[in-house]
Amino acid sequence: MQSKKQSRREFLKQNSIGLGAVLATGMTPSLFAHTTNFSETPALLGGKPAFTGVWPKWPMWNPETDEKRLLEVMRSGVWSRQDVVGEFEKKWADTTGAKRCLMVVNGTNALVVTMIQSNIGAGDEVIIPAYTFIATAQAVLATGAMPIFVDTDPETFQIDPTKIEAKITSRTRAIMPVHLAGLPADMVRILEIAKKHNLLVIEDACQAHLAEINHQKVGTLGDAGCFSFQNSKNLPIGEGGAIVSNDEAFIDRCYSYHNFGFPHGSVIGGSGAVLSGNKLRPTEYQAAIGLAQLVRLEEQTVTRTGNAEYLKSKLRDIPGILPYKMCPHVTRAAYHLFPFRYKKEEFQGLSRAEFNAALEAEGVPSWNGYAALNTMPFLKHAFTSKAFVKAYSSESLNYDEYAGQNKCPENDRLCNEEAVWLTQSLLLTGKSEMDMIFNAIEKIHKNAGKLKVALKK
Ligand SMILES: *Cc1c(COP(=O)(O)O)cnc(C)c1O
Repeated sequence: MQSKKQSRREFLKQNSIGLGAVLATGMTPSLFAHTTNFSETPALLGGKPAFTGVWPKWPMWNPETDEKRLLEVMRSGVWSRQDVVGEFEKKWADTTGAKRCLMVVNGTNALVVTMIQSNIGAGDEVIIPAYTFIATAQAVLATGAMPIFVDTDPETFQIDPTKIEAKITSRTRAIMPVHLAGLPADMVRILEIAKKHNLLVIEDACQAHLAEINHQKVGTLGDAGCFSFQNSKNLPIGEGGAIVSNDEAFIDRCYSYHNFGFPHGSVIGGSGAVLSGNKLRPTEYQAAIGLAQLVRLEEQTVTRTGNAEYLKSKLRDIPGILPYKMCPHVTRAAYHLFPFRYKKEEFQGLSRAEFNAALEAEGVPSWNGYAALNTMPFLKHAFTSKAFVKAYSSESLNYDEYAGQNKCPENDRLCNEEAVWLTQSLLLTGKSEMDMIFNAIEKIHKNAGKLKVALKK
């Protein structure tokens, strides 16, 4: 197997280097006309695109079943949180295997409420990955706590567990791993570290519906887990979020908080509101859409998994394309994204942006993913906020020092040079579509030199 792979790699390498050399010397493309044909010419250079169909649109819905549910809610006149939200919460708790679930307005606020009801706030530090959606960091700031960034393991795209302990201080209260791309983070090691240092673990599972570690759903491995149902997510409602936990008193506090601090379950006492709270209640129609989407989630996850694994097995043969590596103990992934690293050295120096443009022309949309969060100006802004100025010592508010301590060089390379994403809806197709994605990338690889020359003009 190894030698077969090796020889194929060698073949591709030699072939593309050969073409590059031909082009570099300014010889005409007709020189290799006998080795190629119209469908082997990159679409960017006038060839036939590798994919000419239509990718699935997202979100999806079934008009017959889904619209009926939504209309029922509308016609009932009960639009604020009631039984339909309750039904969704019960189903999502059952689906994840958590004792309880609370639905809220969105994933960002699921994270905020979880932290506030875990007594995290001003003066505390929360450890988060540098490679994540901005919501993870902004949620920490919204509580008054300080996000501390840990560098990324570029092979897995997840928080590097070997770099967490160095970031723990006397102010650290929690680790907030993100199951980025729907690929579970290394929870076994993260839980060990948290236990050793007596820290909470709050899972940002906003991209990881149905993903599992050791057959246990993510979101239920730590103290609490948060999900998003925003339009792009694998369970799309438009907006929506959920907190899951086995700690019933905690979920009662979250419930109370999301409803102005009014009593709920074990949150009791006096008359009127008992906790300082907020209003983050979802609507009945959000829940109606969620229930309809939930029906499809399992089947879609199976389809994504099959296609992602197939595509990954094929892409391994293209030098310079390094698909995600799975963390240990993962028994299921959600494949919100299909991430890989692009090494331009293996593509005749064709830049990532040029690769993206060539792929787009082949009919395959791709994305370069996140910009480095830990270098964005919102952090400096937070350091000047009243909450920060009052809660932290002036030494810990030295922003330049903070920026220095939060440098994440691996993550910088991933963000600025190497990461490429395919989004989940591309995986809701079949093997022939995966073959076309592979063909598109292989074609770009073979013609990288030619593309580079053409794009320079
Ligand atoms: C989407 C997302 C969130 C926030 O969810 P919203 O519902 O958009 O507020 C948080 N974290 C991650 C990793 C996400 O992808």
